[in-house]
Amino acid sequence: NYREIATPSRTKEILEKYGFSFKKSLGQNFLTEPNILRKIAATAELGPEDCVMEVGPGIGALTEHLAQSAGKVLTFEIDQRLIPVLEDTLSPYPNVSVVNEDVLKVDLVAEANQAFGAEHPNVKVVANLPYYITTPIMMHLLMSELTIDTMVVMMQKEVAARMSAEPGTKAYGSLSIAVQYYMEAELAFIVHKTAFVPQPNVDSAIIKLTRRVEPIVNVLNEDFFFELTRSAFTQRRKTLWNNLISHFGKSEQKKEWLTAALEATNIDPKRRGETLSITEFGLLANELFANKS
Ligand code: SAM
Repeated sequence: NYREIATPSRTKEILEKYGFSFKKSLGQNFLTEPNILRKIAATAELGPEDCVMEVGPGIGALTEHLAQSAGKVLTFEIDQRLIPVLEDTLSPYPNVSVVNEDVLKVDLVAEANQAFGAEHPNVKVVANLPYYITTPIMMHLLMSELTIDTMVVMMQKEVAARMSAEPGTKAYGSLSIAVQYYMEAELAFIVHKTAFVPQPNVDSAIIKLTRRVEPIVNVLNEDFFFELTRSAFTQRRKTLWNNLISHFGKSEQKKEWLTAALEATNIDPKRRGETLSITEFGLLANELFANKS
């Protein structure tokens, strides 16, 4: 008499059995719609060869679906109170390892080697992220030495829109660039807030990210590239030129340096940051970096 963890009745039973109380500060909104979990797992296109990493299993609602279709699953849960719950709910799935850690503090390469073996294939990430730290978690995963091929992640709808935004749109900004520099991004589907307990204030969305085979642009210095993109969006209504001189300095020497780079890359200084493609930002960053004094 198998009943999925995510059914509202079984979730309620589990929560009651353990006297669990939600911690808002940990972004604990659990999914209680089996169809949505099936859809998330299907979007990740998992097979028996796959090694999947999850962040924040909660009581294991999504983990269960991942365990059913992937080879191995490694999941990080910060809340110690959930560890005995997960031992219980995930006991039918010997291919799952639960690690009681803050995902932001773990060495992802070491954890992956331990759970999947040193020769493991590239990892896939599938997660319903805690909203209060979505961006730090995404950056931690993207900038890690661990090679992640695809990510299927749920987050607040607005954040998903920003991560997957295209140039020239209102949602496009330094976050879109930080994500899409590494990965191709696609908004997969929207999940209404009624699918969770407790119900959050906003709707959610799933985005699917796929690692770029070739870099979108060859950047000379990534730190400088990200500094430039952030500075271009400091004040969205300002022109690129005004944001850049506010950030880099207004001296004649700086102005000449900026003018020369904008001319060399054929970028009009009167444009706004939001109109520049990632490639244009990359070319501008390279020109500026190469001529730094
Ligand atoms: N996967 C479950 C689901 O879909 O129903 C729960 C998702 S809930 C939105 C986020 C989960 O992340 C919670 O279980 C929370 O305790 C956990 N969490 C929050 N911060 C974390 C962190 N820094 N590292 C690991 N897990 C974290």
